[in-house]
Amino acid sequence: MSSLDQDQRLSPCCRDKTTVSSDSSDAAGPASTPLQGLKLASHAVLEEAQERGRLKCSKCGGSRMFFCYTCCSLVGVSPQEVPLIKLPVKIDIIKHPNETDGKSTAIHAKILAPSDVTIYTYPCIPEFEKDKVVLVFPGPGAVSVQDMLQCLLDRSHDSFYEPCTKRLKTEGLQGATHASKNPELGTSSEAKGLESKVYPLQRVVFIDSTWNQTNKISTDERLQGLLQVELKTRKTCFWRRQKGKPDTYLATIEAIYYFLKDFHEHCLAQEYSGEYDNLLFFYSFLHTVINKAKRLAGKI
Ligand SMILES: [Zn+2]
Repeated sequence: MSSLDQDQRLSPCCRDKTTVSSDSSDAAGPASTPLQGLKLASHAVLEEAQERGRLKCSKCGGSRMFFCYTCCSLVGVSPQEVPLIKLPVKIDIIKHPNETDGKSTAIHAKILAPSDVTIYTYPCIPEFEKDKVVLVFPGPGAVSVQDMLQCLLDRSHDSFYEPCTKRLKTEGLQGATHASKNPELGTSSEAKGLESKVYPLQRVVFIDSTWNQTNKISTDERLQGLLQVELKTRKTCFWRRQKGKPDTYLATIEAIYYFLKDFHEHCLAQEYSGEYDNLLFFYSFLHTVINKAKRLAGKI
């Protein structure tokens, strides 16, 4: 089996919608479209590494290409040759122990943004502070990225808070605009920089698992009570979708990328100009390689 022939682990971050809204210019296109036009570092280093083939990981001895998913380190590629990304918020990924690490795209995030990404293996997960952490997972009470900060603020201020969705409807509140008017942020929010802008959000949790295992993690009591956030409908372009699962279930690295893009626009209120595109550095390369191989084999 080639190292590129990875199975898929998906992140259930969008609700499974059978109809897709018509306003989504960056969503719901043909499956190959979302990866076009990204601002990516050169893939030349990966092409060269691919030509050399698999190498032994210096730490565990495993045969790997590009990186070792067990040791979380690069193999046959030097750190200077891959992009290093600073994220505006900490990301925690919870992965299921029964899956082999090679199937996961979570490792891409850890390698490309090492200081901001932590991977936990279920059931070893930390206690999360309910009013500072959100879980990206769809559900009836889930809110959009746009409404997320206001909902967290409501939680930290109200001892008897109404469900966020209800409050948002009745008061017509909207995300960052109102968050910046919050008295705790005051007028010095700009001076305080990024941290105050996204106050009170400290961490964002993603679940990295096959579908069958996802519910077990998402219903864990340590994740109960976290504000759930769902992404607007976007389609995956992962090369091996799980049989029978809709294409709105994203690969974990896709989910993180789309979350951050929304976060940048709606919570930081800044125009997005490719800041986190390199999170898809490995993913887009593998996507191209696998599609090319499929075409050659006459499968697509
Ligand atoms: Zn290793």
